Amino acid sequence: SLTLLWFRDDLRLSDNAALKWAADHGPVIGLFIDETINRSIGAAARWWREQSLNALAQDLSFYGVPLLRRTGNPLEILPKIVSEMEVKAVTWNRRYHQPLCEVDATLKKNLRDQGIEVHSHPGFLLTEPWEVSTATGTPYKVFTPFSKAAWEVARGHAYETVKNNVPVPSHLTGPEGVELPIPEMEQPFWATTLVKECAPGEKNASEKLFDFLEHLQDYPQARDSLARSATSKLSAHLRFGEISIHRVWAETAAIDSEGTELFLKELLWRDFAWHRLYALPHMDTQNVRMQFNRFGWSWDPSEKDKLNTPSTPLIPTKADQFHEDLAAWRAGKTGIPLVDAGMRELWATGSMHNRVRMVVASFLTKNLQIHWRHGEEWFWETLVDADPASNAFNWQWAAGSGDDASPYFRIFNPVTQAKKFDPDETYIRRWVPEYGTPSYPDPIVDLKESRQIALDAYSAIK
Ligand code: FAD
Repeated sequence: SLTLLWFRDDLRLSDNAALKWAADHGPVIGLFIDETINRSIGAAARWWREQSLNALAQDLSFYGVPLLRRTGNPLEILPKIVSEMEVKAVTWNRRYHQPLCEVDATLKKNLRDQGIEVHSHPGFLLTEPWEVSTATGTPYKVFTPFSKAAWEVARGHAYETVKNNVPVPSHLTGPEGVELPIPEMEQPFWATTLVKECAPGEKNASEKLFDFLEHLQDYPQARDSLARSATSKLSAHLRFGEISIHRVWAETAAIDSEGTELFLKELLWRDFAWHRLYALPHMDTQNVRMQFNRFGWSWDPSEKDKLNTPSTPLIPTKADQFHEDLAAWRAGKTGIPLVDAGMRELWATGSMHNRVRMVVASFLTKNLQIHWRHGEEWFWETLVDADPASNAFNWQWAAGSGDDASPYFRIFNPVTQAKKFDPDETYIRRWVPEYGTPSYPDPIVDLKESRQIALDAYSAIK
């Protein structure tokens, strides 16, 4: 009897609870669905995911397990495969955005009604969102108490994972006589540099963790240096579950270093973002603090339609200030060197240093007074690590509209930030070679004046 393993954000073989469960139940077939019923994945993340799926298909083929690929609605696709291939059990690792949880719950019920055994497993987060709550049983709104409560739970899960889980169950096997199609590589998307910069897949994720942990002691001092890039670069690997978050925790915790606690706390920020999205499923589109609904951010819903498979960041727009500013921000042509460096790094590599993400987000939402959703949408298309929780959570943090947000009046000054974190301008010059020449544009906005305008606008809704 066949077991169907539905892969989602868990594109790995090791430390994969659903895979282990499937292997224990006999021959396995893998499935991946490009789901069309919710917000579709952004272009850069899609590119990453394609490479990752290819690596996964290769790794599964070693065990004789095929990876089927489908596009559409899982509520239709799964029951069809189950009956066509006479599948007896279905399993997957959980996900935590309510619209997707609802799909999973419906599917579970429908399949069980058909007499199919269905099992879901934890594994994407350090803590399940319902495992950590305040004294009154509500979700946390503030990171510090959350992280204190989550720490012990995360540590317990990591310990259990390491104790119980085998790297890849050696008895994992596929059905007899089923072809193992390795899907064609999709053409890389618009930015060919992504191919150079990104190395998706389980093997690369493990190597990255290994390399990073060798320098863990440098993390506290060097993580904010823009030129050095001393962070782990694990975010996209974690986004697609190419490495188990419990393993990352356990291997880090085993090292006695100055960087250990700080890095583990960073991992908890990821959990916190999902904790919040689980509690507030509309956090990806709606202000968490309602008073910001009265805030006068510039907003044009039709901008979103222009983002599908962008071919260049300079999208021709209506010639008004707002559209011009938004286009200049996306293209990295604002005349503010640190902002431009970050936006060009994003375009070329599918990533951006966390500090610069905060600076460009503050600049867009405060100095330019543009709605954070425009920033969130651009990041959604261009970041390889974009996910609905971390992206929205951090945008609302930067914009001031989130629960535990940076206070609105804390407006990053991109010039001071550059002096502090890129003192010899290595990072800026890497991405903005024309900086300091006549061809570099003047700033599109006066930092001091626009800061005051932002503060006044905030006073009006306080
Ligand atoms: P490290 O410093 O090595 O951190 C380790 C891991 O901790 C990261 O891989 C990530 O999983 C987690 N982490 C660290 N900081 C955060 C944080 N603030 N929020 C959530 N998780 C965190 N991160 C995403 O993974 N996806 C996003 O879509 C995303 N959008 C962002 C948007 C904005 C406006 C900002 C300011 C930040 C965003 N981040 C997002 C958070 C952060 O910038 C990246 O996780 C980080 O830069 C990834 O690099 P790293 O793996 O080297 O990080």
